[in-house]
Amino acid sequence: MIIDLSPIVRDDGLNDWGLVEKVIRAWREQRDAKAVFYGVADNSLWHCLDEAGRRALNDLTRRGSARSVPFADPDIIELAEQHPDAVVVTRDSYRDLRRDHPWLQGSDRFFSPIYSDGKVTFERLDMAPIDESEMSMRVEAALLKPKGLNSPEARRILDSEWSCANSDCVWGALPVIDQDPEYRDGVVLCPDCGGRADRVGAISHTREVVVFLGGEEIHRFTVADGVRIIVGRVRGAYRYDVRDVLDTSHTALVSRDHLAVSNINGSLFVEDLGSKNGTNLSHDGATTALEPNVRQRIFQGTRISLAKGTFQLRRSGRKRVRARWAPDLSTPPWAIPNKEQA
Ligand SMILES: [Zn+2]
Repeated sequence: MIIDLSPIVRDDGLNDWGLVEKVIRAWREQRDAKAVFYGVADNSLWHCLDEAGRRALNDLTRRGSARSVPFADPDIIELAEQHPDAVVVTRDSYRDLRRDHPWLQGSDRFFSPIYSDGKVTFERLDMAPIDESEMSMRVEAALLKPKGLNSPEARRILDSEWSCANSDCVWGALPVIDQDPEYRDGVVLCPDCGGRADRVGAISHTREVVVFLGGEEIHRFTVADGVRIIVGRVRGAYRYDVRDVLDTSHTALVSRDHLAVSNINGSLFVEDLGSKNGTNLSHDGATTALEPNVRQRIFQGTRISLAKGTFQLRRSGRKRVRARWAPDLSTPPWAIPNKEQA
């Protein structure tokens, strides 16, 4: 079973990790006692969790049973494609991904949890096929007016990355807002807290870094143009803290400020910050140690290794997903279910 963690945890604004545990328990009791679970979270979920929730998410990640990425939806659908026997527990019917993944149309593999009287049951999600021409119309219409972006001038803000400076906001601690911003009276706003958003860089220059733990992908984070992220044993803005994912013995091999990953005009660079145990770079079968305090460009296929290779980074080839849309299903003809296929 693949679990879309963010909507489950954030159900009814509860931000309760316990819901994930309830869902897993209920599935094992009612459907499949031997079910294996894998969770996918949006990077923003972390900031909605309390201490216990964060520990639980970290535990799952470390055991190779969860990962956190900027946008969970495409990851979930790719995983479901790789595991055709798996079901997906979610609240989403992935209408915006139907064109790229036609098997979603009419699929019976998607379930939503229902909570009543302290019990969890499951309902199969209606994945009734959407007509191709209707889908195109919906995509176009939605792109024209998400959140006030209804003029060509306003839509140009989607060419940039934005950040939120509000420390109480889910996006406040992250280098970029992984969602479309809002636009009102000529001002760009954070879609979550409504505070003023600051421009970070050109979205076409945004790059994504994939984190591997023991060979398993556990995280993806975005590095926007002009942004520098430090990997090490310190928490904070513009930092990736390895203590969240490595065990104690491997954490000890990582320095406080171990490695910097930076994006300069869309090129990705790494720099060992004079770490005690060093950093390795592998490309085309050759491995070299990074020279301290020298910036080195990384290309696709390059692997950066710390902590005796347990912790690795590589550049993702994936394009930035933006301008997402949610269809309005209350407006005909989209409200009419397709009876033959439902
Ligand atoms: Zn905000």
